[in-house]
Amino acid sequence: MTIFSQMNDLDHEQVVFCRNDSVGLRAIIGVHNTALGPSLGGVRLYNYANEAQALRDVLRLSRGMTYKAAVAGLDLGGGKAVIIGDPSIKSEALFRAFGRFVEGLNGRYITAEDMNTTVDDMNYISRETQWVTGASTYAGGSGDPSPVTARGVYHGIRACLEIVHGNPDPRGKTVAIQGVGAVGYYLAQYLHEDGANLLYSDISERKLAAVVENFGGKVLDDEDFYSAECDVLAPCAIGGIINSSTIPRLRTPIIAGAANNQLDDEVRDGEALEEAGIVYAPDYVINAGGLINVYSELRGLPSEKAMADTANIFNTVKQVINKARALGITSTQASNQVAEERIERVGRLGRFHLP
Ligand code: NAD
Repeated sequence: MTIFSQMNDLDHEQVVFCRNDSVGLRAIIGVHNTALGPSLGGVRLYNYANEAQALRDVLRLSRGMTYKAAVAGLDLGGGKAVIIGDPSIKSEALFRAFGRFVEGLNGRYITAEDMNTTVDDMNYISRETQWVTGASTYAGGSGDPSPVTARGVYHGIRACLEIVHGNPDPRGKTVAIQGVGAVGYYLAQYLHEDGANLLYSDISERKLAAVVENFGGKVLDDEDFYSAECDVLAPCAIGGIINSSTIPRLRTPIIAGAANNQLDDEVRDGEALEEAGIVYAPDYVINAGGLINVYSELRGLPSEKAMADTANIFNTVKQVINKARALGITSTQASNQVAEERIERVGRLGRFHLP
């Protein structure tokens, strides 16, 4: 498939290939849609098996950001970048070289952290371009967005509990969290503060020991996570884990977590969850807190505003699940509709010429 036909398939505006051999940079920036504002999305550093895989990832991820920003009510479009490389080999020069390419787009794409990139890496990028968010506060940024992402997931879980039980209170409810990294750790903290019972699964013994020590709860074997009898299953690690092999094993009425692309196949697995009577909070709706936080940073808004907008994920999750029920469609189809309607209606205003 040609690059243009792939761009056409997901409806991308622009794809930028960036190379600097002296620092080992090979990156791709995907600008999916800028109808609502500049495209924003993190830069992922990953050892892709080949260039085609890297391109597929950046196209898919940047499109997801368009939908995430649209449903969260932000004036942002969707973009994302990938750097092809070994995450254990990072350098100042690599990120500064990437930052110069971002600067070249003059604000059409704004970058941030993603898988294998950190606040320190954003600090390097910020020395070459103003179009970066999530750098340290001393470098003018808002720092790690993960605690805010976790807060949004917490509110989304409360929304799902209200839909299922008529009461959002997590007290006494059992939540199984897969992945207790940057987001999962804070999610465990918030739920523990509310009196929830916690179950965890992670491949890192060190991270598991830290959550159990700080917030109590029990560790599950990796495979037991899917069949855990619980009130909420919260995937906060990797994508594709809700699929035809795991769905028949689920013993939860709710799936609500931070991980991107939780459904292996959006349509097939979304429908299977509906048939099984499991409420699913669409991933890009419930995990928008980090994006809301960096948007506030861009706009120079106080952190209280970001926290208030993140708390509104409670209402957004309820809105899309109720819309899905009213229309007899899956929750992801409902959130896609909300995004597409807003992009169309608000994006259309841009066609009105201002002197
Ligand atoms: P992280 O790398 O800090 O944490 C991920 C955790 O999952 C780690 O503790 C890792 O050991 C564990 N893990 C990896 N593979 C696993 C497996 N097979 N089974 C169990 N555990 C496994 O990442 P994070 O920033 O906490 O992000 C978690 C998820 O949320 C990712 O899918 C990410 O894309 C998504 N997300 C994060 C943010 C954010 O603000 N950090 C925002 C939106 C979405």
